[in-house]
Amino acid sequence: MPSPKPLNLTDELQRKFPAEVLSVLQEVGKVASQMGMTAYAVGGFVRDLLLGTPTLDIDIVVEGNGISLAQKLAQMWQADLTVHERFFTATLQWRLKEPVSTIASTNACILSRLDIATARKERYPSPAALPEVEPASILDDLWRRDFTINAMAICLDPTRFGELVDPTGGFGDLRRGIIRVLHERSFVDDPTRIFRAVRYEQRFNFKIEPKTLQLICQARDESFLAKLSRDRIKHELWRILQERDPTKPMRRLSKLRILSVIAPELCVTKERLEWMRKANEWLNWFAEKFPEKPLERERALLLPLLPTYEAVNSFSQRYQLGESERECGLALLKALRRRTPKRPSGWVRWLNPLPLEAALVLAAKRSSPNDPAWQRYFLEWRWARPDITGEDLKAHGITGRAISIGLQAALAVKLDEGADAHRQLEVALRRAQQCQTSRR
Ligand code: ATP
Ligand code: MG
Repeated sequence: MPSPKPLNLTDELQRKFPAEVLSVLQEVGKVASQMGMTAYAVGGFVRDLLLGTPTLDIDIVVEGNGISLAQKLAQMWQADLTVHERFFTATLQWRLKEPVSTIASTNACILSRLDIATARKERYPSPAALPEVEPASILDDLWRRDFTINAMAICLDPTRFGELVDPTGGFGDLRRGIIRVLHERSFVDDPTRIFRAVRYEQRFNFKIEPKTLQLICQARDESFLAKLSRDRIKHELWRILQERDPTKPMRRLSKLRILSVIAPELCVTKERLEWMRKANEWLNWFAEKFPEKPLERERALLLPLLPTYEAVNSFSQRYQLGESERECGLALLKALRRRTPKRPSGWVRWLNPLPLEAALVLAAKRSSPNDPAWQRYFLEWRWARPDITGEDLKAHGITGRAISIGLQAALAVKLDEGADAHRQLEVALRRAQQCQTSRR
């Protein structure tokens, strides 16, 4: 019986992407073909297109030599090229700071990067070790992947443009909402796939298929997670924390008794997850108001799950977090012991010494993101400065620590009473002089 005609996704590509993106894909296919190779778009790009939520994160795989194709394209499009010989991969990047007209002519359009890999086979020398790789066909390349929904490709060759390549049944699983591994040893070869399974399941509201779930539990019980380096686990954990709602995969990992293996100090209760969810909302709120201020979101999101000083210390050590990250956790625990102050000056004394992330997590514990007093703290009070300076106080003979005490008093009357600069100076001098007298 002839095999059914493969699904062609050209219309879908046309509907979901601007013409420039389509022409980049066509160009990649054409140049590859001229070099005697076949190019495909693969993985998350295909999955997300079929889910109706297209992404510009495009991974290309070529049967042939991905690096030489990337070199050719970089030259044609004047893009920056980074080559990873060992993995047979290369990345093209466009400098988007260039004028739009130049970008259009170099074909970069709204894409800022393109990852190009050589189709390959993988062999795992031992469980959880990094694989040995060798060039292979697109089918081999798809069969080495994590889940059926991530193991599809779209052919870019001019003669077969848009054709779906789906050897593992990914399209059907996508429609049924199922996360399924491709073979029994999948989690033994690479236990990071456990985290990936949970991440996709919770992101798409899918279900991990029963046999796959059984393999996850087996890999957990046979301690395969322990074979992963701390760095690789941390990388997966951080990717989970970058999800739109990280509480869902965290709850699932906890229920599967995986969190207790990789981070026993994390305390996952309903209340703490709710706190984490609100922390996520506060972080989003702040990022929208101050897009230029960087936030370490991942570390902030974990804070609600670290209940004690010991937990903070032990988690920081386990994942080799920096001293500032550890101190952020400790400072939060200390600040949590105090009641929310009444006056703005009290807020400033309470929260300004905390890293921004810790202050936002504290906000999440005590309020919802539309609480006006808390919003005012982050929008105004945290950044407020007195209208006088240390120089003004020095000019009146104030020295040393009394200067900062005077300035604090000036800020307090400014915030609490709306005092003008003249009154701020008066109060600051009085307070600073008291401080100097008591020191004598
Ligand atoms: P996301 O939206 O989370 O970025 P993605 O599918 O783009 O999803 P990546 O981690 O960027 O995921 O990886 C790209 C592709 O590489 C995946 O779709 C999958 O086919 C393959 N892949 C990634 N990690 C693994 C792994 N650990 N084992 C097997 N295949 C993997
Ligand atoms: Mg990706």
